[in-house]
Amino acid sequence: MPPKGPIARMRAFMSVSADDPALLKAQYQAFSGQIPLMYAMLLVNTWLLASTHIGIAPRWLVTGVPLLFTPVCALRCIQWWRGRHQAMDAAGALRALRRTNRLVWPLAAGFAAWSLALYPYGDAYTRSHVAFYMAVTIIGVLLCLMHVRPAMLAAAAVVNLAFVAFFATTGVPTFTAMTVNVALVTTTLVGMLLRQYDGFTELVRARLQAEALGGENLRLANLDSLTGLPNRRAFFAELEAACARARERGSRFAVGILDLDGFKPVNDLYGHAVGDRLLEQVGVRLSALVGGRAHLARLGGDEFALIIEDIADDASCAAFARHLCTELRAPFPLQDNSLQVAASMGLVVYPDLATNASDLYEHADYALYQGKRHQRGGVSLFSTRHQHRIQQDAAIEQALRKADLEAELSVVFQPIVDTASRRTLAFEALARWHSPAMGTVSPAEFIPVAERTGLITQLTRVLLAKALDAAATWPEAVGLSFNLSIHDLGSEEEVARLVRLVLDSGVHPARIDLEITETAVMQDMEQAQWAAGQLRGLGCGVTLDDFGTGFSSLSRLLALPLTRIKIDRRFVSGIQHSPASLKIVRSLLALSRDMELGCVIEGVEGEEELAILRELGGSLMQGYLFARPMPAADVPAWLAHGEGAAFCFC
Ligand code: C2E
Ligand code: CA
Ligand code: CA
Repeated sequence: MPPKGPIARMRAFMSVSADDPALLKAQYQAFSGQIPLMYAMLLVNTWLLASTHIGIAPRWLVTGVPLLFTPVCALRCIQWWRGRHQAMDAAGALRALRRTNRLVWPLAAGFAAWSLALYPYGDAYTRSHVAFYMAVTIIGVLLCLMHVRPAMLAAAAVVNLAFVAFFATTGVPTFTAMTVNVALVTTTLVGMLLRQYDGFTELVRARLQAEALGGENLRLANLDSLTGLPNRRAFFAELEAACARARERGSRFAVGILDLDGFKPVNDLYGHAVGDRLLEQVGVRLSALVGGRAHLARLGGDEFALIIEDIADDASCAAFARHLCTELRAPFPLQDNSLQVAASMGLVVYPDLATNASDLYEHADYALYQGKRHQRGGVSLFSTRHQHRIQQDAAIEQALRKADLEAELSVVFQPIVDTASRRTLAFEALARWHSPAMGTVSPAEFIPVAERTGLITQLTRVLLAKALDAAATWPEAVGLSFNLSIHDLGSEEEVARLVRLVLDSGVHPARIDLEITETAVMQDMEQAQWAAGQLRGLGCGVTLDDFGTGFSSLSRLLALPLTRIKIDRRFVSGIQHSPASLKIVRSLLALSRDMELGCVIEGVEGEEELAILRELGGSLMQGYLFARPMPAADVPAWLAHGEGAAFCFC
């Protein structure tokens, strides 16, 4: 509350206010640099004035009084000098400034009285020296005190009043004129310094505001605007800090990357607004589940991250992660009905297999990716097996980059048979790589590496050319199935290149079937739809490979211009012992019939499986029971003798 009444207001004006801690600290800081200078100047000037009065005025006055002042001033000078770089809190600054404010009155009065007491003893020169000493020293003092307004005003008032009152009454015209000079100069100076002081306080407030704004910006820069959780940037800062803490304490902590399964279809089907609300709710549910046990962040998209500190053991940490994934499966009430997603998590423990932030993140992410490939909706802990895989993948990448693809890659062919007519319908081309450095590498290993590194398109061109060369020698009735990766369909140029290869091969496009896996399609549905349209336009067939493994929405998959589906072998192997697999295969066969799509069942290994599949109505099949993939040179013999002979199932 502002003070009432002129006296109270004057008092407030002349005292150091405790209202503004930031201003106090800034005053202290500015002041502490100037005050030692002021005391030093004051002492030197004082002793110079004393020196011109030695032998003229009494000793006690000339040197006695300055000897009294000197320790006081020197002590204050040293105190302020020492404290000039110390961080001072507002209370400390207030105490120091108030002490100065109190001291300034007696000191100003003491110095003024002393110098005026010397006046009667000298001649005109020494008297002028007294006047000059007072006039100049006060200017210096005022400049040094400018950041503490009441102290500055007190010094100006005491010294100037004494000066004017004394010299105006000396009757010496020169001194009378000097009083006017001094009064004018100090009034102007005080006016200017008061304005400077206002500018100083404004500057301090502006800086405070800017700092507050900067703090808010920093807070916003570290926050995910959708969920209100810490964002990627904040997560990595926290991860660095967690590494440092664990290193210091020798403790263990876990990093988890959580990814939603089935979020993309929600986004595609219901729109981004619903997708956003789902993510918000996931954030809320996760926050409630995690509580204070972990640091939670959203990395972007449907990816969340956790830092679980001070874990007891890996098993309880994995159990906690599994609990989160399970809880996320409960429906989210949205869009008039409820939506359901699943969650998978990759976990890594510091310091077992990673000791810095980027390795921890990458390993958790890798465990997540690998986990998802094998079993969605689960928790996968980064292990030495993963580490070995990473090293192996790196070696494969190196060798692939150096490889002479034309010489090292080859294609083998596995027949797709029609068990009803006992004829070979087509051959699926399967890549083989013999690297001089790595030996024979399975496509299950090198194809994913080639996809990740973008080398796949080069591989596809070489492999497709080789497969087409072989197919060109087969009878017209025998088709070719060729596996494409989503990267092969990633751009118009790439698709145009494939189209040209097909057109130049001499194999009729109608004999060619291009297989795209369900998981690949899910990565970019729009691109897959466009590319499949292009290939269909050319006259080729399009098969959806590994059908049933991707958890994608059936209606969306069937919106693709497909000609065939291929039921994944995981539903076939051991079908005789698995009622669930039996049901799935039965409904997929019914679906393909309803949709008028061809249906190939892959991975048929045993007679018993074959009998059941036939009973379910399946006829197009592929598997070791009929033939293993064979080199191109063996195809003519298979076509001539294999058909029928190998089909000993009737
Ligand atoms: P895929 O397209 O599902 O190919 C079928 C895989 O199952 C082949 O493995 C084949 O040898 C194997 N297989 C066939 N019959 C049976 C059976 O009765 N039992 C069992 N257990 N397995 C059987 P392969 O040749 O190792 O290929 C693995 C995967 O690598 C392929 O799976 C495909 O995704 C990929 N791949 C192979 N060649 C190419 C290619 O030229 N381009 C692309 N993009 N991917 C390829
Ligand atoms: Ca395939
Ligand atoms: Ca397959």
